[in-house]
Order: sequence, then structure tokens, then C-alpha cells
Amino acid sequence: MIKKYILALDQGTTSSRAVLFDNEFNVLGIEQSETTQIFPKPGWVEQDATEIRETQIFVARKLISRLGVDSKQINGIGITNQRETTILWDKKTGQPVYNAIVWQDKRTSDLCEQINKDDFSEYIRKSTGLVIDSYFSGTKVLWLLDNIKGLREKAEKGQILFGTVDTWLIWNLSGGRLHITDYSNASRTLLYSIHDKCWDKEILDYFNIPLQMMPEVVESSGTYGKTEKGIFGNSEVMLSGIAGDKQAALFGQTCFDEGDAKNTYGTGCFMLMNTGDKPFKSKSGLLTTIAWGLNGKITYALEGSVFIAGAAIQWLRDKLRLIESASDTEKIAFEVTDSAGVYFVPAFSGLGAPFWNMNAIGIITGLTAGVDYRHIVRAALESMAFQTRDVLNAMQKDSGIEIGNLNVDGGASANNFLLQFQADILGVDVSRPEFVESTALGAGFLAAIGSGVCEIEDLKKFRKTDKVFHSNMSDSDRQGLCLGWTNAIDKARK
Ligand code: ADP
Repeated sequence: MIKKYILALDQGTTSSRAVLFDNEFNVLGIEQSETTQIFPKPGWVEQDATEIRETQIFVARKLISRLGVDSKQINGIGITNQRETTILWDKKTGQPVYNAIVWQDKRTSDLCEQINKDDFSEYIRKSTGLVIDSYFSGTKVLWLLDNIKGLREKAEKGQILFGTVDTWLIWNLSGGRLHITDYSNASRTLLYSIHDKCWDKEILDYFNIPLQMMPEVVESSGTYGKTEKGIFGNSEVMLSGIAGDKQAALFGQTCFDEGDAKNTYGTGCFMLMNTGDKPFKSKSGLLTTIAWGLNGKITYALEGSVFIAGAAIQWLRDKLRLIESASDTEKIAFEVTDSAGVYFVPAFSGLGAPFWNMNAIGIITGLTAGVDYRHIVRAALESMAFQTRDVLNAMQKDSGIEIGNLNVDGGASANNFLLQFQADILGVDVSRPEFVESTALGAGFLAAIGSGVCEIEDLKKFRKTDKVFHSNMSDSDRQGLCLGWTNAIDKARK
């Protein structure tokens, strides 16, 4: 029997990656190539769209050739991508009109501030589920139309196409035949109505963005079309899955049901909670977003982040020099039985959800003569868990849905102390998978569904659990610690 495979393309902010899975979602190989970030001015972040395309195709080709796979054996390709990053290109020549403007780029901050003062801003927030911020694609498109000579006229004539990175890759892989994006990526543009499930004509008019630039919005799995001959040898391979990276991670963590949530512990924390078929409006400044569209059904999510998580550990290492490497923290934290009343609020750049206090400052509180460096290290790890709890509580409050457990990934999820404390402080199970590349796995899952290899119901078994952390803490201990944290937050706010 000929072996069959699924190929996931994971185009992130700093690298293009390709991962090949077999039908059981075993990882057969990974290839990666760094991409260059361009900083033309303070606050501006760009990338070369051609480099994004070339590195992505290069790593995919290198991987399948290294593994001796014939592209005929690939059942489907799943695309996952850095979200919101904006590319405009000429429909005829395929040439980008400008560099990709990356999600981190803040050139439209002033514009967003102006929009926020306008009466129409409430409409945008309601329709898109987002806040008005330079982060999202909409004002980046507007900037390009306003700042590149003659571009608006061309766009109005239908000669210019807009895409996030998924759209750009698929357009190129399909030889210019497919101009599509999926629901999850569309919901990050600030131009898409997550309730009506269409490009919002009123918002497009407000921004003066021509509708004909916009890609067709498709489900996150499907038989969209095939790659052009020559891209992967002589065979044409089915493009069959698309999702923005954070949503793909939620899918890869098999958070398929309402109330399922995942947290990624990296430099910051990134949390999503599946809220089923309901788009809950947040009262705590969380984002409402589309998780995916599958089988005629849209699944929504609430999304929130913690600005400083692993970054606090880096700070202990590089600024306080308390540790040599991030992984030392686990052993050190286990050496003491508690943090001796020390709380570390790493509000280095203000406090995000649910507090939204940009003037807050970082603090370490509760110091006594008995405190040593181990308590401070422990308090830093605990702060990741407390902050995660604050965001998850906001999600539960906004949606009225209680989480059953938390699936985790990201660099700091290797830390067993952190995950045990997280389970304790949440009072729910915390589960770490064997394969922590949830984003690529999610793209692979979507591609497998799209190409008919399996159904969503079949997938849970392919997320192999490495370890589940069960809560071990009494309610009263939990309440006491959380009260201490709340008091520390109050001090940071003042
Ligand atoms: P990102 O993708 O945001 O760059 P990663 O997922 O690679 O981040 O995780 C790196 C972050 O996690 C760093 O901030 C580092 O300090 C922290 N980290 C890595 N390993 C550990 C560990 N064993 N314990 C605690 N923190 C860790």
C-alpha cells in the first residue's frame, strides 16, 4: 500500500516551517527557515512578501525531498499563518505593491486613536468582535491605499488584491487561481462581520476600501483547489486546510467543544476558549473571534493574552541574574514549600486583560528577612499562573461557560512546577501534549478533514498526552493565595 501524508505549512512571524505527518499524525520531519524582519522606522515592522513565499515553498520542498516523499503521496496541505499581516499585490503580475506590513506594526496607531473617537467605532467593535487597534489588517490596508501613488485607482479597477499571509501563499501556490481566506483569518481584519459572516460593506465604505480587493471567505477545511504543477514536482496537491496560527493551535489542542481552552506559555501567554456557536461580547476587553468554520458551522472563541509571562523569567536571568537558564526555575521553585508571601506582578508594560491599566508598574511585594532568591523565582513562575487565571476567569465571566480543563503548550509549558501550580490555582486539570507544536498539528488536522482522510470526531486520539496535572490544593489555600495576588495587583495599579 502506498503511504499517504499530510503537509502543514506554518508561516510564522520569524520563520517559515513545514511539517510532514503520516495518517496517524506522527511527525515524520520538520524543516524551518528564518525570515527577515525589516524595521524602517520606530514602530514600523515589515517583511518581504516574496521572501515569505519563497522560504515557505523552499522548506516544503526540502522536507519532502529529504524524506523521499513523492508529492503524489500527499493527501492535503494545511496552511497556518501569522495573523493580520497585510499584503497587497497586483493581480496581473503577482508583484506585491509594498512590503508585507506585519501585525506588530504601529504606523496606524494615530489613525486608530482618531477612529476610536468617532461614533462609528462602536459599530466596528460590534461587527468585528475586535478593538480598534493598529494590530489588525484594516487600517494597514487603508495606509497602503492612501500612501502608494495611484494604488487606490488601480484597486477600484479591480487590479489589486488584498490578502493576509494565508491568502498570499494560496494565491501563489495555486498559480493565481485561488484568492481565498478562511473565517478565522477574515475575523482578524477589522473588516469582517463575524455575525453576518461577510465582509462588512459599511466598514469597507467607511475605510474606502474596494470590496473587489477582498478574498472569498471559505471554511477552514475543504477542497479549495490544487497547487500549480511544478511547485511540488509534477503532481498537483490539494490545498485543504487554512487557519490563523492561534486558532490552528486551539484546533491542534483538540479544543473542539464549547468550554475547551488552551494556553500557550511563551514570552507572553496566549489563551483561547471555544465558545461554541455563540460570539460573546467581552466586558473585560477580550477579543471575540472566529475559531473556525467547518461543515457549515461557525465556531467562535474568546481570545486574551498576558503581556509578560516567560519574559519575567528572562528578566530574572538577564537583569537580576538570579538564574542561569530559564529551565533552572523548576528545580529552584520546588526547593521551597511556598513563596513565603512573596508576589511578583510583572507589569513591565502595564496590565492587560482584565485590568487594562497602562500606568501599572511591576512590583515584588511581601519581602521579609526570611525571603531568599528561591521565593522570588517561585513567585515569578506563580505570576504566570495567576495572570492566566485572571484571563480565564474573565473568559468564564464573559461567556457564562466554565472551563473543564486547560490544554497547554509553548516553551515554558516544559516547566512542571508551573503546570502543577496552574492546576492548583485553577482547580482544573492541566494537560500537556507530547507534541507541543499545536499550530502545525492544527493545520494538519484541518487539511486531513478537508481532504477527506478523517472526520473531526477521529482526531482526539491523535493528540497524545504527555502529562496531566491534577489540582492538589484545598479551596481555602487557593482562596488565600488568590487574595494575596489580588492585593498585589492593587498595589501595582496605584
Ligand atoms: P515565544 O514563542 O514567545 O518566543 P517560546 O514558546 O519559545 O516563546 O518560550 C520561550 C519563553 O519561555 C521564554 O520567555 C523563556 O523565559 C520561557 N521558558 C522557556 N523554558 C522555560 C522553563 N523551563 N521554565 C520557565 N520558563 C521557560
